[in-house]
Amino acid sequence: MVSTALTNWAGNHTYRAARLHEPDSLGRLQEIVRTSEVVKVLGSRHSFNDIADTAGDQVSLARMPRVIDIDTGRRAVTIDGALRYGDLCGVLESAGFALHNLASLPHISVAGACATATHGSGDRSGNLATAVSGLEVVGADGEIREFVRGDRGEFEGIVVGLGAIGVVTRLTLDLEPTYQVRQDIYERLPLADAAENFDAITSSADSVSLFTSWRAQTVDQVWLKRRVTPGDAFEPPPTFFGARLTTTRRHPIPDITAEAVTEQLGLPGPWHERIPHFRMDQTPSSGDELQSEYLVPRQEAVDALLALDRFADRIAPLVQITEVRTIAGDDLWMSTAFGRDSVAIHFTWKPDWPAVRAVLPAIEAALRPFEPRPHWGKLFTMPSDELRSRYAKLPDFVALVARLDPGRKFRNAYLDLLLTGA
Ligand SMILES: Cc1cc2nc3c(=O)[nH]c(=O)nc-3n(C[C@H](O)[C@H](O)[C@H](O)COP(=O)(O)OP(=O)(O)OC[C@H]3O[C@@H](n4cnc5c(N)ncnc54)[C@H](O)[C@@H]3O)c2cc1C
Repeated sequence: MVSTALTNWAGNHTYRAARLHEPDSLGRLQEIVRTSEVVKVLGSRHSFNDIADTAGDQVSLARMPRVIDIDTGRRAVTIDGALRYGDLCGVLESAGFALHNLASLPHISVAGACATATHGSGDRSGNLATAVSGLEVVGADGEIREFVRGDRGEFEGIVVGLGAIGVVTRLTLDLEPTYQVRQDIYERLPLADAAENFDAITSSADSVSLFTSWRAQTVDQVWLKRRVTPGDAFEPPPTFFGARLTTTRRHPIPDITAEAVTEQLGLPGPWHERIPHFRMDQTPSSGDELQSEYLVPRQEAVDALLALDRFADRIAPLVQITEVRTIAGDDLWMSTAFGRDSVAIHFTWKPDWPAVRAVLPAIEAALRPFEPRPHWGKLFTMPSDELRSRYAKLPDFVALVARLDPGRKFRNAYLDLLLTGA
């Protein structure tokens, strides 16, 4: 046990925890959970808000044994509760397997990412939590519980658990055969063309990202990530709905050089070295930033983007970049894409919280007609009543959490606001 003044990755939140425990065995972890009054797990600390915070005991699973157990027959992998995508993907690739999708960066823990419904992009691709078929959890009493897809109709409530259901010590993920991906990038897509052809654009590759800095009614870059087979004769056209194919590598944020990005310019490569925008051995994004993101129903995406464009003069001075991605709907109760195919509108802000906090209510008001759901791991100011109204399964989740954690051991201020509205 060590005392802690740890911050999150962005450095905008200092955890208040009195103690940080770093158990190196399951038995020791169970004892910590059993004897603590309040305990919260830290993943890789990439969330921008207080979702993982507590004034009580914090636990990092980083010293627990690493587990990567591939079941070839079932096409599944079981991993430990601290493993990062970046440490998993190469092992899967070597064994001939792949995950269905990845986020923009490989640095995040799988358990932490799934707990917050972290997503990549793709019209037909669910968020990362949709790959979870099983969980092993140390519950509030310190006992181990297993949850498997199909369980008693409650598994869908467990997976995007927001840290409320216990300490996840094992996750089992669906695999598919390995595949190759190429990235092609186009620049300067007029916003009007993006709006008119939105469906054609997002369905033109397996994973599509539109980046805009809200200037001159232009989408700065369109990133197309396409699965390819060896010998594939695909040649990207020189123009794409008015945008031009780039011939040099690009970072999503204007004026940042391209060292940190994964291979581009159409060079095919393994899935995990193309789907994330950023390389594991580099700082992702700008590294000096805050983030917010809102998911809206896919069919309302264009109206939502045009509503935000009316605020472009307020957003542009504060934003480093906005990314627009698509996510297939799912049935995970607290997933930001629950029950609806979605479009995520993301903001990488300059690290100026007073200014960001001042603009977020205006963005949330502009998006209100589209019933936005904020990313659980990013910054938002939406009143809790409004947030709670976005989740039809919230009452079931509240009941599930109350049953699994009657003594409120895994609760914190973030969860209290969500679960009780106070
Ligand atoms: C540069 C950058 C880029 C990003 N890109 C994307 C992106 O492309 N798509 C996207 O959707 N999001 C993105 N995010 C957000 C990020 O994916 C989420 O915040 C995610 O939750 C981070 O995972 P983590 O391991 O850091 O979790 P943490 O922030 O450490 O924790 C998040 C939650 O998970 C819980 N938790 C963690 N591990 C466990 C466990 N073993 N058992 C139980 N609960 C656990 C914590 O208690 C907490 O409630 C990005 C963030 C950054 C900083």
